[in-house]
Amino acid sequence: MDSQDFRKNAHKFVDWMADYMENIESYPVKPPTKPGEILAQLPEYAPKNPEHMDDIFQDFQDIIMPGMTHWQHPGFMAYFPANASPPSILAEMLTSTLAAQCMSWQTSPAATELEERVLDWLREMIGLPTGFHGVIQDTASTAMFVAFLTARERLNDHQTNHAGLNSAGRHCCYASGEVHSSTDKGIRMAGLGSDNLRKIPVDENFAMVPEELDKAIASDIEAGHKPTCVIATLGSTSLSAIDPLQAISVICKKYGIWLHVDAAWAGSALVLPEYQYMIRGIENADSFVFNPHKWLLTQFDCSAFYVKDKTALIRTFEILPEYLKTREGTQVNNYRDWGPQLGRRFRALKLWFVIRSYGITGLQDHIRRHIDMTHALAAQVAEEPDFELLAPNPLALFCFRYHPKDIPEDQLDALNERIFETINDTGEIYLTQTRINGKYAIRLVSGAPATENKHLDKAWRIIKDISRTTK
Ligand code: PLP
Repeated sequence: MDSQDFRKNAHKFVDWMADYMENIESYPVKPPTKPGEILAQLPEYAPKNPEHMDDIFQDFQDIIMPGMTHWQHPGFMAYFPANASPPSILAEMLTSTLAAQCMSWQTSPAATELEERVLDWLREMIGLPTGFHGVIQDTASTAMFVAFLTARERLNDHQTNHAGLNSAGRHCCYASGEVHSSTDKGIRMAGLGSDNLRKIPVDENFAMVPEELDKAIASDIEAGHKPTCVIATLGSTSLSAIDPLQAISVICKKYGIWLHVDAAWAGSALVLPEYQYMIRGIENADSFVFNPHKWLLTQFDCSAFYVKDKTALIRTFEILPEYLKTREGTQVNNYRDWGPQLGRRFRALKLWFVIRSYGITGLQDHIRRHIDMTHALAAQVAEEPDFELLAPNPLALFCFRYHPKDIPEDQLDALNERIFETINDTGEIYLTQTRINGKYAIRLVSGAPATENKHLDKAWRIIKDISRTTK
């Protein structure tokens, strides 16, 4: 494709992109696609000869688009949001055009230094103290894995990387029963063994009970094990529980255990002064992660990971063969040594575009709007006699079920599951489910930039109508 053709196609695509954003509501939020339906429309073998971009783009519209779930749709109220925004999309277009591989300072000094600067901005914006050093990871799962490895290495005086885990003893990690599955995965990947993840009991708000954490650590020490890492969750995935960081951090300090704070979704709410209470005690944490790619208007992937002991992190990951050496050495950050990957995308650019385009106040408005809208809807649900909320809802998420008083408890799970599937089959809204104290719960999260009050009103109408007519 020559430059002329590229220009022509790019303009056409940008028009398509703007139309898509304007008309997103005309798509079903979740497509009615059956398994294998898209695959069946794709040729079994790659084309031998070049194809024309017009044909490729037509197939994109005819085959791919009907099988897409529209995460920016105002009816997307499932999982957690994966925000996009026009400034972030524009930045991604530039990133993609520059196509730089930003593994070390030298391979793109501007990318490295911009990453350093915007992560400092972000640190200030969410109220993390100075002394935390930021790096963009692809996901919170990677950040968790990085925290486990660094905690393990620091505990073992950086010997396990060389000697392996064989003689290193049993490393125990601690998290509430509400912790995200990336914790279990990270522990497996770090070789610590999922049997050594202690799930600490939670209180009536589904937050970790610090006294139980203390007991579990003491009992592992007594047994000769090695308490290695505690994960405190701010905004649990199922129901947005907030662990008591202050009390947990005191325990971690007492035992000298690495404290990782996972605020993957809820961390964005820290831009609001009224949510700063969630990070009381953060000064004693060792690492912290949140995902601007969830709720802060920044395109996936962009996970902001902060670590206090940068030396321990780099010692864990740095391997420096001759071909990677650069003369700037330690004068600069070489982010290839801050995580598992060598190659890195230029992800800081979109964050820079987003923060500058919206300003702190614009980002605050976005988050506050979703929290307010969700609280208002949750209050309506709570008032309806045949519905019930199943957990507190401090942020923009609530869990509920349909519960008419004449339906016995043992039929409620199946009934709510049928309701849930019927709601999602409408293509108007998309919700996800969870279990709370063993009960099947329907979970609603608001966070897509396009979602307004009228969409939540519509969601509530759909939920009520379907619930009351489902047998
Ligand atoms: N931690 C929590 C609390 C989450 O809710 C999630 C995902 O929703 C993750 C971690 C994993 O996030 P990522 O997809 O960035 O790995």
